[in-house]
Amino acid sequence: VEDDFNFASGFVILDSSMADDLSVVNSARVSFAKRSETLDQAAIGLINFLMRERHGTPFEHNSFRFHIKCPIFVAREWFRHRIGSFNEFSARYSEVPNEFFSPLLEDVRKQTGKPGSYTFEKMNLSDAEKAKKIIEENNTSAYESYLELLEMGVAKELARSVLPVSMYTQFYWTVNARALMNFLSLRTAESAQVDIRKYAKDVERIFESQMPITHEAWIKNGRIAP
Ligand SMILES: Cc1cc2nc3c(=O)[nH]c(=O)nc-3n(C[C@H](O)[C@H](O)[C@H](O)COP(=O)(O)OP(=O)(O)OC[C@H]3O[C@@H](n4cnc5c(N)ncnc54)[C@H](O)[C@@H]3O)c2cc1C
Repeated sequence: VEDDFNFASGFVILDSSMADDLSVVNSARVSFAKRSETLDQAAIGLINFLMRERHGTPFEHNSFRFHIKCPIFVAREWFRHRIGSFNEFSARYSEVPNEFFSPLLEDVRKQTGKPGSYTFEKMNLSDAEKAKKIIEENNTSAYESYLELLEMGVAKELARSVLPVSMYTQFYWTVNARALMNFLSLRTAESAQVDIRKYAKDVERIFESQMPITHEAWIKNGRIAP
């Protein structure tokens, strides 16, 4: 039901999938005109071998379709992952709802260091509260300007230009396990922005539930995509 997706904050939903560990085994075994019906020890060994030797293509014969809602600044990082398909909410065609990201107090952080080796430290509580308030006031005033422009008759595609990147968007993302593991390697890493890392961890839990042996082999391989 469409209304179920209008949560005030973000989400990761597995909309549909065609994904299991056996597909990895059988797409490799077709080289020898062989096929397995069960995941026995030899099959598990084969998945580990393929992962370790970086024979990546057998991990492509599957598909995950996610429905995701996240702030635009997270989506921008997500859309950099070219191996996969995206369809996104259109702020040209639909009025944007009043839904904006505001950080948890514990996530308000300072940034020190140089590009490539930044470190992030929590702010003290009173500064974190002040920062959060500034972000929220900016969200509110930007949305008021947006509504004012719409009331004047300005086209949605232009009125949206006043909205900040904290605005929520939603999209469908269809991806295979090989590209998904690459996404997870990069976006669950400590070096990734904490805000996308939270979504990536949810994606990883779903991946693990659908392809547990592949997930385990990927962990053993240092979380590097084959
Ligand atoms: C911590 C972090 C910081 C980042 N900082 C920046 C930044 O400052 N500026 C910036 O612009 N981006 C930045 N990025 C984005 C980054 O450069 C990648 O665009 C993004 O992570 C997608 O990775 P990918 O290309 O491996 O994924 P995908 O696009 O999904 O590609 C998957 C794999 O397919 C192959 N592939 C895909 N397209 C090509 C191609 N055209 N040619 C050859 N091989 C291809 C590669 O093997 C690739 O690893 C950052 C990413 C991270 C994780």
